[in-house]
Amino acid sequence: MKLAFYALTSCEGCLTTLITNLGPNLEGLWRMFDIDYFKLVREPVGGVRIPKADIAFVEGAVVTDRDRKTLNEIRNNSSFVVALGTCASSGNIAYTASRAVDLDAKHLRDLEISPAEPLSSVVAVDFELSGCPVSAKEFTDALLRLINSMEPIQPDYSVCYECRSKGNPCLLDAKRVCLGPLAMGGCGAACPTVGSPCYSCRGPAVEADLNAYLIVLEKKGIGKERALMMLRMFTGKKAKELLKDEQ
Ligand code: SF4
Ligand code: SF4
Ligand code: SF4
Repeated sequence: MKLAFYALTSCEGCLTTLITNLGPNLEGLWRMFDIDYFKLVREPVGGVRIPKADIAFVEGAVVTDRDRKTLNEIRNNSSFVVALGTCASSGNIAYTASRAVDLDAKHLRDLEISPAEPLSSVVAVDFELSGCPVSAKEFTDALLRLINSMEPIQPDYSVCYECRSKGNPCLLDAKRVCLGPLAMGGCGAACPTVGSPCYSCRGPAVEADLNAYLIVLEKKGIGKERALMMLRMFTGKKAKELLKDEQ
């Protein structure tokens, strides 16, 4: 089976996370699969190579004309395309930030950039792995399912579920805004477990209910403005549906 790993406009944190977390298992990956192109590990001098692949993992948002061209070529050459991380899945911070600046300003015009988009705005995407950065465990699980001809699966529970399962005190009770009720689980409630609020970097939970969440905030005496700002920050294009009544 042929795999390929790409980065569009990104911090390359998702690929770096895979490389560092897989550690010695990266060699095993190399032995098990035919990997022609892996950004940061195996890339020819002089640019991206886009070989035919069974599965392409693509990190980053679509920001430049070159991103669009590269992504279309990846799609044409790959049987299954996985969006790797929140930038690729929702546009992440770049989605919102690029709409808050004047892209026609001279110093930006020269860079030929457009408002950031997730991969799915440009091509058909077969599966999205969220996370900023992506989780190496979820990547491995998805890959194992794919090589056994099974569809990968998304967690169908929220960060709150994992947080409460760990017995953490709830930050909302301390009047701190936390997006755990709206965020897709799977990270083990990494942030609230160390006392930091969840920013929903993994995107919306399957049954995210913004109205119910805002009612909870109100009951706890917490204003909604910060929560809405946090939601716009990381959830990118996926925040649009949740926020459609809150423009
Ligand atoms: S999802 Fe996060 S870690 Fe991955 S490329 Fe985007 S900003 Fe970097
Ligand atoms: S701290 Fe956040 S994630 Fe944990 S239970 Fe409270 S709202 Fe949910
Ligand atoms: S707790 Fe929230 S912000 Fe932290 S890693 Fe999980 S989804 Fe992302």
